[in-house]
Amino acid sequence: MNRKQRFQDRRRKRFRKSALRFIFSVLLVLVGGFIYDNMNLDMVFKEIFANDEIIKEPVNEVSSVVSRKGPLDLDERFTYSESFAKEADLNRNNIFIGDNYKDIKIDPNGLADAADSRAAEQIEGDAKYASSAEPEQKVQQADAPENDVHTKTVYLTFDDGPNQFSDQLLAVLESYNAKATFFMIDRNIRSFPDAVNHMIAAGHSVGLHSVSHNVKVFYQSASSVISEMNQVHDTVKEVTGLDTMLIRTPYGSVPYMQDSYLQAVHDNGYLMWDWNIDSKDWYYRDRRYVDTSIAQLEAHAESTEPLVILLHEREETLAHLPELLEYLKSQNYKMKALDSSMTPVAFK
Ligand SMILES: [Zn+2]
Repeated sequence: MNRKQRFQDRRRKRFRKSALRFIFSVLLVLVGGFIYDNMNLDMVFKEIFANDEIIKEPVNEVSSVVSRKGPLDLDERFTYSESFAKEADLNRNNIFIGDNYKDIKIDPNGLADAADSRAAEQIEGDAKYASSAEPEQKVQQADAPENDVHTKTVYLTFDDGPNQFSDQLLAVLESYNAKATFFMIDRNIRSFPDAVNHMIAAGHSVGLHSVSHNVKVFYQSASSVISEMNQVHDTVKEVTGLDTMLIRTPYGSVPYMQDSYLQAVHDNGYLMWDWNIDSKDWYYRDRRYVDTSIAQLEAHAESTEPLVILLHEREETLAHLPELLEYLKSQNYKMKALDSSMTPVAFK
């Protein structure tokens, strides 16, 4: 081999090496893209982001539901799972956008007490949808018998207990001659069985509020819903001897309860209660929940449905409960416990 041949040979080898490197890079990009597309990794990340560690508070506890027919704004087009991540914004705006982008729930009270003007501005655009619900309410008013001030009734419901505050809560209720309903979680019943017996002895109603209290676990299927309710039903029976069929699903039935789940609940004889007055005690964690409840009560004054207030067994709720009960007493409301002869209030 002379010098010229050696030079050409080296050049050929160098060319071959860089060509191979190029082909390898192209293949790497293609294979990477294929894996990403087919494994749907962005869904995996979304799942992780929407895991239950992040869901510390309910995102859908709102008091009224309106349907929206028109197209949604761009920023409203987030998906169901993303809505968990937007929890902070949802709380501030009092708006929750459900599955299928079509149900928007607006808390009318949120409009009134929005101290945050930015939130008020954002809500304004949706207010016209809330007012579209009015004609229906007027029809109900026309049919309603005239309310005697002495027969007004309100149903206080306390979720997530029992706990170390239950007995104090019972004492406050007793001092106002108020009856209430407690929707309770399995492990809490096991931890505070005496409290459950005290509730029953005092004439309150007890209901079932799941085992897991976890959206992803509880709402997995119709059978997960039923088996959790069956378990907590059996726990109440074991601890108190009482057979209760009153239930409230974690965070309320919308948007999680599918038609087949509702059918299963019905078929198993359970009576599922949502609410129509959301005190938002879990959100405010101070006395503001009292004003919120009163404003919604006044807005519902002509309602023919039973007035059901959502509250929680929390220390802050207990601290300001006398103020709410004082108001109810002054307005001649009777505070009664739910019972199985009533037609449950349920979100549409
Ligand atoms: Zn709950």
